[in-house]
Amino acid sequence: MRVLVAEDDSATRSVLAGMLKKKGHDVVEAANGLEAWLSLQQPEAPMLAILDWIMPEMDGLDLLRRIRSIQTEQPIYIIMLTIKGEKTNIITGLQAGADDYLPKPFDYGELCARVEVGLRVTEMRVKLLEARNALAHEAAHDPLTGMLNRRAILNHLHKELSRASRHGDLLVIGMFDIDHFKKVNDTYGHKAGDEILIGLSHILSGSIREYDSLGRIGGEEFLMITPMKPGTEPELLFNRLCNIVSESRINTKSGVLSITVSIGVAYANTKSTVDGLLESADAALYRAKSEGRNRYCIADFSTTK
Ligand code: GH3
Ligand code: MG
Ligand code: MG
Ligand code: MG
Repeated sequence: MRVLVAEDDSATRSVLAGMLKKKGHDVVEAANGLEAWLSLQQPEAPMLAILDWIMPEMDGLDLLRRIRSIQTEQPIYIIMLTIKGEKTNIITGLQAGADDYLPKPFDYGELCARVEVGLRVTEMRVKLLEARNALAHEAAHDPLTGMLNRRAILNHLHKELSRASRHGDLLVIGMFDIDHFKKVNDTYGHKAGDEILIGLSHILSGSIREYDSLGRIGGEEFLMITPMKPGTEPELLFNRLCNIVSESRINTKSGVLSITVSIGVAYANTKSTVDGLLESADAALYRAKSEGRNRYCIADFSTTK
């Protein structure tokens, strides 16, 4: 693990650095508080620090307070190692955010043991954060296609709706539904159907602009949210997407297949709600299906909720 040693006394600093290197750590040395602060701003910054209190430029306590004033998901583990060994100093250091406090002169074995504690705590924090991120990712993504799931894309729509109405921007949604998908399952099997869903998610993800978002809202239905500049015409975009899908060939274990989609498009107005907008897009999708599929239809703006 990368460990920072901030200590102005060069003899003590090299003893500490030597001890940590012997334990296999990658040591970053700083001769004053400011140098230490700068080294913590670097990428791959140390995750554990041993800080002296009395140092030039910025003392260890100011450095500690500065580090703790910044919100982070992965706080650095800090051991204060200082000549200031009074109880009041220890209390001040711990209250300022030190995880541990060891007065000088220190016992080599004790410091090593306390560093080990810091490493254990740090490793546990890293694992917890990884597990939390993995759970958050799982909660927001569809396991088959890896796209945002229904809950996540609807949350996003909620946010985009309020953002668009605040800024007076145009927001358009497209509800995509694969045409005659049941027939694909019936003819080629459910596995091939799954491969089609994965293939379509790649096609759509690869065809949208970076500020558009996509999610799998239901079985063979996908929702696209596209913020647009006033004056731009979503017709071109949805027409292009219909063509891209119908011209694509998707490799499945049952052979190369092609599909078409129908799209229901709805423009948000300043009073639109998530449910109202989805209802309007659904109605437009129903129309696209009844008018022959492989096409988009736009909901009547005057009746959009
Ligand atoms: P339409 O053109 O009117 O949309 O016809 P359709 O056959 O696509 O519509 P319908 O709603 O009748 O059928 C949807 C099918 O999607 C039925 C269901 O089995 C299939 N489906 C839903 N989720 C999945 C999935 O995760 N994997 C597979 N393979 N099929 C799915
Ligand atoms: Mg000092
Ligand atoms: Mg459907
Ligand atoms: Mg369908």
